[in-house]
Amino acid sequence: MKAVALISGGLDSTLAAKIAQDLGLELLAFNMKSPFCLCDLRAGNGCIHGALSAAKRLGLKLVSVDVSNEILEIIRRPRFGYGSNMNPCIDCRILLFKKAKEYMRKEAASFIITGEVLGQRPMSQRIFTMRLIEREAGVEGFVVRPLCAKMLEPTIPEKSGWIDRERLLGISGRSRKPQIHLAKELGINDYPCPSGGCLLTDPGFSKRLKDLMHYTPDFSLNDINLLKLGRHFRISHNAKLIVGRNEGENEKIMNLAHEGDYIFLPQDVIGPTCMGRGDFNQDMLKLSCQIAARYCDLNGNITARIIYKRFPGEEEDVREVFVLGEKELYSYRI
Ligand code: SF4
Repeated sequence: MKAVALISGGLDSTLAAKIAQDLGLELLAFNMKSPFCLCDLRAGNGCIHGALSAAKRLGLKLVSVDVSNEILEIIRRPRFGYGSNMNPCIDCRILLFKKAKEYMRKEAASFIITGEVLGQRPMSQRIFTMRLIEREAGVEGFVVRPLCAKMLEPTIPEKSGWIDRERLLGISGRSRKPQIHLAKELGINDYPCPSGGCLLTDPGFSKRLKDLMHYTPDFSLNDINLLKLGRHFRISHNAKLIVGRNEGENEKIMNLAHEGDYIFLPQDVIGPTCMGRGDFNQDMLKLSCQIAARYCDLNGNITARIIYKRFPGEEEDVREVFVLGEKELYSYRI
């Protein structure tokens, strides 16, 4: 019997797939690549990286679909709302199950395996919402959750004898201990992205995202990628400044620059690369230079010379500015 196993790179999905494999199922590993996956930041290569190694360890070939644009649409208008931060988990899971269903049909698989644990996540892993998600995605009764199956009504694959319910588990709640214990038992001791994770559940990121959605409702994936980097300052309703926090971020900020963005760089001292996006007048350019100066290595000096230019043009200006005071600085910080 063939099933689609949703693999995130986290421990739970690896365990669930391993249990199903040990029960003799033929598994097809499937993953949805989101720009908000935290494994992206950790692994530097997208959540696909974590899922890929997890699948590889299980001896499975991973198929991943990029849903960046669909996720952005969901974030703009989630049908089922947000969780405690900007996480539209119910809509996001519906999308995942819909994609898994398409793949299941294409590969003539019979059902879906997930690593969900009843009660582990407040928004999407309660009985009512699990059922709602299945219904909305058109996979009702066809999702087997090996880690918590015994806490739930038997699914169609269990009732049909495609998978042995007796050998599935009854884990529930937020504690990770049972999974860690099980991992030891099954000999799984190296998993790439232990607790998974999503930027949309992070309060700091959510604050920046709300700001972006408020001032730039037609935001793009580039704007989202920029939100993951640096310190953000709201200069006016249609201008913001992003200040790199290290060399890696400075480089990434440059790579995300659009035509018309302003780039600010320190002259003669070590300091951050900053990007100004939006409409800047002379006062705002000066303010941006002052913010950039605050993060330069000034060796006790209170002024800095900051070069700025429009990307990708060659023409530059330089301003010598006083470092912005802390109180004023934080009044602009998002
Ligand atoms: S935490 Fe993030 S990835 Fe997970 S369901 Fe919610 S929105 Fe989707």
